[in-house]
Amino acid sequence: MLVSAKEMLTKAKAGKYAVGQFNINNLEWTKAILQTAEELKSPVILGVSEGAGKYMCGYKTVVGMVNGMLEEMGITVPVALHLDHGSYEGAKKCIEAGFSSVMFDGSHYPIEENIAKTKELVETCNKLGLSLEAEVGAIGGEEDGVVGGGEVADPKECKMIADLGITMLAAGIGNIHGKYPANWPGLRFDTLEEIQKLTGTMPLVLHGGTGIPADMIKKAISLGVSKINVNTECQLAFAEATRKYIEAGKDLEGKGFDPRKLLADGTAAIKATVKEKMELFGSVGKA
Ligand SMILES: [Zn+2]
Repeated sequence: MLVSAKEMLTKAKAGKYAVGQFNINNLEWTKAILQTAEELKSPVILGVSEGAGKYMCGYKTVVGMVNGMLEEMGITVPVALHLDHGSYEGAKKCIEAGFSSVMFDGSHYPIEENIAKTKELVETCNKLGLSLEAEVGAIGGEEDGVVGGGEVADPKECKMIADLGITMLAAGIGNIHGKYPANWPGLRFDTLEEIQKLTGTMPLVLHGGTGIPADMIKKAISLGVSKINVNTECQLAFAEATRKYIEAGKDLEGKGFDPRKLLADGTAAIKATVKEKMELFGSVGKA
């Protein structure tokens, strides 16, 4: 059965490790992540963006697939199904469809509007026992002239949003979605420390986990990050393994064209990536 992310993240924050959110795109992706979590006895959060939700034929399809897998695969570790970067409407749809966790990303709204909308969703989620992630936007917004620096949140705004009763808070600390540019100056630990001081026991979320060096990830966890989102890295691993399979001509040998064979190497590559991340985040054996 799907669970809210609250308990697993509270434990992670207290135990100084992080739970990975791995975004899913289809059946193979979901199966690979769940298998790895079960093998490593790690709690896990399955992330679904609105785009991926659409691709998988809607949130109800996703809920049906994930619930079916939890049962048929005999999954015993805590699993949360979480909307990633949800709009206000998207969050409501996912709640209706049976997600156990949602993110409302109001970071592009003025802070007052972000607060008002987040507050409303806090009430709904509390009533239903679901976890809610909120996000605070960047300082100034137009500071992006600093090429490749990533967004940095205002710690005072973080405190305002955290006090609304959300479960976990995403705040920019120089992190970036997708691949990091070569001139990236690194995470802003000064900002993270300030946010952590103001928000206390609130689990903090690090988005854009792909390509952040391991020592920075460990330091971020020591400073209060208890959920780390991984998406691009699994995609790159899947694409590379699948390309190698095709380039080696394996799809032309025997029944190598069978999708169960064609996608097997890519799926194994996702498993290896998830394992590596769970080990780095320290969530192995914490289920
Ligand atoms: Zn994100």
